[in-house]
Amino acid sequence: MQDFKRTKLETSYNSQRTEDFSIINGPTGTIKQSDHKFDEQASETSEYQENKSSSLKQPLPIIQQDIEKSEYESQIVESLADSYPGSEIKALIEQKKQRDHKPIYLNIMVVGQSGLGKSTFIDVLLKKKLGSGQIIRDSTLQIQEIQGLITQNDLTLNIKFIDTPGFKHQYSLRSWLKLLCGYIKNQFKSYQQRQNLQYESKEKFQQLSQQDLDERVHVCFYFFSGPRIQTEDLQALKKISGLVNVIPILAKGDSYTKNEIIQLKQQFNDMINEYHIDLFKCQCNNNFHEKSQFGSTTPYVIISSVEQFQIGNHLIYGRKFPWGICDIFNPQHSDLAILYKQLIGHYCLELIKLTNFLYNNYVQQEKQKLKLKQQNQSWLSNLINYLFNR
Ligand code: GDP
Repeated sequence: MQDFKRTKLETSYNSQRTEDFSIINGPTGTIKQSDHKFDEQASETSEYQENKSSSLKQPLPIIQQDIEKSEYESQIVESLADSYPGSEIKALIEQKKQRDHKPIYLNIMVVGQSGLGKSTFIDVLLKKKLGSGQIIRDSTLQIQEIQGLITQNDLTLNIKFIDTPGFKHQYSLRSWLKLLCGYIKNQFKSYQQRQNLQYESKEKFQQLSQQDLDERVHVCFYFFSGPRIQTEDLQALKKISGLVNVIPILAKGDSYTKNEIIQLKQQFNDMINEYHIDLFKCQCNNNFHEKSQFGSTTPYVIISSVEQFQIGNHLIYGRKFPWGICDIFNPQHSDLAILYKQLIGHYCLELIKLTNFLYNNYVQQEKQKLKLKQQNQSWLSNLINYLFNR
C-alpha cells in the first residue's frame, strides 16, 4: 500500500518537471522568457538545486499521511456539520426571511368632491385599525400625507393615506385634476430617481434595494355621491385611472335607501362601461365570507364617523339617527369593514403589482414625449439653419 502511493506521487512529480523542461526548451520566445525567470528565482534556493539535479533519478522524500486528500476533506466537512448542525441552512433561512419580510408600502389616495367624508374615512381607519391617536386638522386645503403602521409577527405594513382637497369649493375640475395628477406623477418621478440612483454603484444598490421604499400611489379611493352620477366625476375617473388603480366609493351610504343604492350602483357601472373607464377589478376570492349586502360589484358603500357610542359592552364608531345608531364597521350597515379587509387581505399585493404596470407605462410615455420634443427641436433648428444659410 505504502509503495503504491509512493509510485503514484513520484510519477506525477516527474511528469510535472518534464513539462517544465519542455517549456524551457520550447520554441516560443515569450514562454521561454517567463519560465527562465521562474527558473532563476527558483534556482536561488539550494533545495531546488538539489531537487533539480536528482529529480529524474532519485525518489523525492515524500511526506505522506495515511489518509487520502478526499477522505481528509470529507472529515473536515463532517466535523463542521457536527459542531453547527445545519447552521448554514439556518442562516440562509434567516436571510430569506429578512428579504421576504421587507416592509410593505401601501399608499392610498382619497379623492372626490368636498364634504363627502374623505377625511372622516381616513381618521376612523387610522383610529380603529391603525391605532393612531386623535387626528386634529383643519379642512383639507392642501394634499396631506398621514402615516399608519401595522406590525404583526414578521410583517410590517406601512400605510400612507393621502388626503386631498375636494373639487368644487376651492378648485375647478381642471385645476383639481392638475393637482392630483401632478402629485401622482411626482411620486413616480421620485421613485424613478431612486431606482436610477441605486444602479450608480454596488454600494448604493445594496443600500437602496434593501430599504425598498415605495412612495408611489398604489390605489385611489374615488368618493362620489348621488342622486345621479355626475359628468365631472366621470371625466375625473377617466383621467385618474390612467395613472393609478381606482376603487370607487359611494359616500355617505346612510343618505340612501337600499333600493336607491342598488340603482345608483347599476347606473355607475353602466356609465363606466360606456365611457371605457378602466377601474381596478375588485374580484375577491371566497376566503372572505362577508359579502356586501348591496351586491358583489363596486362601488363600496361607505358610512364614516369618528363618533363613538356605547352599545352594551361594546364601544362602537357610529352615526346616530332618530331611529337608532348605525355601526359603521357592521357589514349590515356599511361596506367599511369589508373594504378594509379586502384591501389589506386580498388586493394589497395585486395593487402594488399593477402599480408597477402603471408606472412602467408612465415612464415609457415620458420617454416618448422627450423623444418627440427632441425631434421637433432638431427639425426646427434644421429649418432655421436652412433659412439663414440659403
Ligand atoms: P371631506 O371634505 O370629503 O374630507 O369631508 P369630511 O370628512 O370633512 O366630512 C364632511 C362632513 O360630513 C362632516 O361633518 C362629517 O361628519 C360628515 N360625514 C362624514 N362621513 C359621513 C357619512 O358617512 N355620513 C354622513 N351622514 N355624514 C358624514
